[in-house]
Amino acid sequence: MAAHVPLLINGRFIKSRSKQTLPVINPTNQKILAEVPLTTPAEINAAVRGAQEAQRAWREESLPTRMRLMLEYQRLLKNNLLPLAKIVAEDNGKTLEDAKGDVFRGIEVVEFACSLPTLMMGETAENVAKGVDTYSIRQPLGVCAGICPFNFPVMIPLWMFPLATACGNAFILKPSEQVPLAAIRLAELFMQAGAPKGLLQVVHGGKEQVDALLTHPDIRALSFVGSVAVGRHVYETGCRHHKRVNALAGAKNHMIVMPDADKNQTINALVGASCGAAGQRCMAISAAVLVGKTRQWLPDITRAMKNAQPGPWKNPKADFGPIINKISLERIRYLIAEGKKSGAQCLLDGSKCKVTGYEKGNWLGPTLFAKVTPDMSIYKEEIFGPVLVTLEAPSLEAAIELINADPRGNGAAIFTSSGAAARRFQHEIEAGQVGINVPIPVALPFFSFTGWKDSFYGDLRTYGKQGVMFYTETKTVTTRWLDSNKKTAANMTIRLK
Ligand code: NAD
Repeated sequence: MAAHVPLLINGRFIKSRSKQTLPVINPTNQKILAEVPLTTPAEINAAVRGAQEAQRAWREESLPTRMRLMLEYQRLLKNNLLPLAKIVAEDNGKTLEDAKGDVFRGIEVVEFACSLPTLMMGETAENVAKGVDTYSIRQPLGVCAGICPFNFPVMIPLWMFPLATACGNAFILKPSEQVPLAAIRLAELFMQAGAPKGLLQVVHGGKEQVDALLTHPDIRALSFVGSVAVGRHVYETGCRHHKRVNALAGAKNHMIVMPDADKNQTINALVGASCGAAGQRCMAISAAVLVGKTRQWLPDITRAMKNAQPGPWKNPKADFGPIINKISLERIRYLIAEGKKSGAQCLLDGSKCKVTGYEKGNWLGPTLFAKVTPDMSIYKEEIFGPVLVTLEAPSLEAAIELINADPRGNGAAIFTSSGAAARRFQHEIEAGQVGINVPIPVALPFFSFTGWKDSFYGDLRTYGKQGVMFYTETKTVTTRWLDSNKKTAANMTIRLK
């Protein structure tokens, strides 16, 4: 029997009392790495109570103390980058290079949280009326929670709890039940860095546990990252229960290929952005819009994609890993078959891909479709695999119109050598993260993660200044001090305009 993944409740890693568990499966060989418990309602309540208690003390700590916790945590994470990456590679399946990137990009958010004292500063206006000043301060919310997806087991938890706790909140983390192992190591390192008991709690599970957090009266805010359907459910349920919610959801990211783009650079970018991490990135490019004569590049795109091959993380030559689970693999194979039936031209079909020595792995080879139209399921669905669909447009204007008709808007890129085309694209495209000759345009954490439309539900976004606003409440203070030396002071009036 595989070991149980522990809960972290009130500073102790404990075995859940739940009788229900799910296996954590290595997707390269189906080996069961651990059993993850479906946390009981009593354990969730204990986590929330403990977090409330820890938060009452933590909110009184000075800003430099909170900042120093982040500095120390950053040091420990950097020292543990490789072991953390190996945990990710083992349970998620991504290549070691990708897994190191996952950890590194999470560390960047912790580094951002180290600027806490400046980020928490409010605003001041003197003499809002004669002798009266107003200033604003930021205060923590209380207990916050975070629900994570499978595809970035380190980066996404680190999008959430470091900034939330730096702002003075306590945090309840629910990692993806498919990849819960790295989160436990993240929590151990956080405690080792000096986080007080109860500040971070870790619970496990699926829908039932998420719903318990969403409806818990003592949780003030909840961050979610995952698919569109669940994101919408989380946002609607959380708001109905008077919580602040930001829900980052699924995507279909397009790249426009203009005839004046550098051909080699564009094709390399297209292959990396569609097949990298087996296409299991919310910012993966899954649709290319070929403008004008760039449709003639398809044979070269096919050749380049064919060279990208999956494999286990221990093989340094593997370009990407397996699909996360059998159900997702079967769903993608079904969508590929549907694509063929609907009349799209399949230039490369990875459905039957095998990797020698890892016959049980969830392998899917690079897959490329041409002559795709927006009504096809292969275009409408988020595939989340190394599958690139290509559509054609006669002009930049038509390409922008096609992309803007899609309900999602996480990211979009254009490859061109024309400043005018790039400027027009940047201005008119309805996506929140725009790349100009950059295929995966995720800004560093001093900006925010800015998906639009159905790729984001909420108002304030993850990390950056908006992240600090999300995890804090603003209070304004208006002050008037009577000055006994000034005769007029007693007659002062405050104008409330
Ligand atoms: P998912 O929506 O299936 O699961 C995400 C989380 O929600 C998990 O913790 C899971 O336990 C929980 N959950 C699942 N079903 C639920 C339900 N019915 N009710 C309540 N909670 C539920 O997503 P996933 O498959 O783990 O991750 C892939 C998805 O995440 C893709 O759609 C991808 O685009 C998206 N994603 C988005 C971003 C972004 O920044 N916009 C980043 C990473 C991943």
